Amino acid sequence: MRSSHPSPAGAFAVVARGVEKYFGHLQVLKGVNLTVEYGKVCCILGPSGSGKSTFLRCMNHLERLDKGFLEVGGELVGYREQGGKLYEMKKSEVARQRADIGMVFQNFNLFPHMTVLQNIIEAPVYVRRIDRKQAVEHAMDLLSKVGLTAKADAYPRTLSGGQQQRVAIARALAMKPKLMLFDEPTSALDPELVGEVLNVMRGLAAEGMTMVVVTHELGFAREVCDKVVFMDGGVVVEEGSPDELFNNTRTARAKAFLGKVL
Ligand code: ADP
Ligand code: MG
Repeated sequence: MRSSHPSPAGAFAVVARGVEKYFGHLQVLKGVNLTVEYGKVCCILGPSGSGKSTFLRCMNHLERLDKGFLEVGGELVGYREQGGKLYEMKKSEVARQRADIGMVFQNFNLFPHMTVLQNIIEAPVYVRRIDRKQAVEHAMDLLSKVGLTAKADAYPRTLSGGQQQRVAIARALAMKPKLMLFDEPTSALDPELVGEVLNVMRGLAAEGMTMVVVTHELGFAREVCDKVVFMDGGVVVEEGSPDELFNNTRTARAKAFLGKVL
């Protein structure tokens, strides 16, 4: 059942080739190569500091790459091609591009002064200009999907971490994104709350949502991901199916990392 999120046939949701990023003199991404097909789930594993977050943030205009090729949804990130030349996108084009990408962060990042419902309808109403009543209806559907209908009028601080993260997922989905990025979505949660968030993500994957997930949850990666990528030192060191990566690990670096977390 992969029907709810129809996708262009044969196209890649993400194509990264030789992506480089510096912070001052520190080179954080040293030529990242990655493709993600529509409708697939790609997990990124790797030690802290290996550039996973920076790479995700480059896809979503939160960081700007310095070198390389990065295409999301069939378009270059931040640039448009015209007559064989590249032009930087205008703010409005960047906003349109970002609106198609949902992102979920480790620390939820909900708006603290808004209720759950207000958090979810904010972007659809003010960015997509969707009619408020329609936005509320969609938001209630999404809250039901993440099991939080009863919390529509609650403020984020009154919710558990797991509930807040499920609201954050609903908020991202409210924009009807073509791609969802998750940056360690369960790392800030108490262990007993991890499962409820992973279950929502499992459901999304089963519906055919295209997802890139940075995670240390190896069980989730093994079970849900189509492709697992191991990053270290600013590059993709190894990638493959979960079986290839976990059971037939090729590189010493990935073996050492998996040996430590398993
Ligand atoms: P990961 O998500 O794999 O832990 P990050 O992408 O967060 O790795 O970080 C990679 C490296 O880039 C780290 O050394 C980190 O300290 C550095 N870094 C990340 N963001 C910034 C920033 N805004 N300014 C300077 N250095 C940064
Ligand atoms: Mg990170």
